[in-house]
Amino acid sequence: MNSDERVAKLSCISINGETALYGVIGNPIKHSFSPRMHSLAFQECGINAVYLPFLINESQLPQLLNAFVISGVQGFNVTIPFKEKIVPYLDLLSDEAAMLQSVNTVIRTDDGWKGYSTDGNGFIRSLQAADISLKGKRILLAGAGGAARAITVSLALAGVSEMVIVNRTQKKADNLAELLHSAIPNLHINTILPVDLQTDIVINTTSVGMHNDDCPLPDEVLRHCNQVVDIIYNPPETRLLKKAIEWSISHMNGIDMLLYQGVEAFELWTGQKAPVDTMRQSLIDSVYSGSATNHSPKKSS
Ligand code: NAP
Repeated sequence: MNSDERVAKLSCISINGETALYGVIGNPIKHSFSPRMHSLAFQECGINAVYLPFLINESQLPQLLNAFVISGVQGFNVTIPFKEKIVPYLDLLSDEAAMLQSVNTVIRTDDGWKGYSTDGNGFIRSLQAADISLKGKRILLAGAGGAARAITVSLALAGVSEMVIVNRTQKKADNLAELLHSAIPNLHINTILPVDLQTDIVINTTSVGMHNDDCPLPDEVLRHCNQVVDIIYNPPETRLLKKAIEWSISHMNGIDMLLYQGVEAFELWTGQKAPVDTMRQSLIDSVYSGSATNHSPKKSS
């Protein structure tokens, strides 16, 4: 590398006295895709900022926000196991975060640290990007864990007409239905598989299919739906999605949900439109590292 090339390379990384600091807290954290994705996004938008991973322990949470004020952190993401544990330390919560009592994005405001949950909106934006409309749709959703909570709240706010939530542990599905019903009383919600299986969109939010080749829902349900969404992104084609492909049902995996959570965080921090294509490519490179599969949301005829 000659000196001109070295200067050109260094001028891309313009760290100086005004560089803003962002990051992600979690434990473990070294496998996070976010530092690379957000660093590339800042660079592409000409924003003078860096994004770092912060490995922390639960005992450090009480001092964390003061340490972040002192070190000039402007905002950060929160991942496992701190999404719920960070809540008592924040000054403000968005409506979704307050309802879910879970936060994955924090921004420093004039009134203090404000927590958001971008999982649900990230999911909705991933459907919008694939031209999947939700208004008046009947949804069957498998799972009642953290992702299901975030997604169902956003689906309800997006105007779906009817939702069926099924889960291995029935009590958790019932609790989620109760939470949704108390917030959005007009929503038709059920936690038992209906006899009439006709469904517009089937969504898997369980981890079934991530570490094994199982399918979270019976074949009869899948055969009666128009669209299948699996929020698992690795493997890119779970057993559920393979069945949708076999039966020519429109389908998509969870890579764009992951992407749009990051897009939402970037836009909250910077107030600018995120460079979606760059962020998507970064994620695909990081998550699939060279796999030849086409990971775009697909529509089959
Ligand atoms: P979680 O809170 O631990 O919930 C796990 C859910 O899966 C629960 O409903 C659980 O049922 C169900 N489940 C687990 N093992 C099962 C089995 N063997 N049979 C039937 N049901 C089973 O996890 P989460 O945070 O919601 O994440 C769930 C999945 O979504 C993971 O695969 C995660 O990678 C994925 N995810 C993707 C994104 C994205 O951006 N694409 C974001 C978040 C999560 P019980 O209640 O009965 O235990």
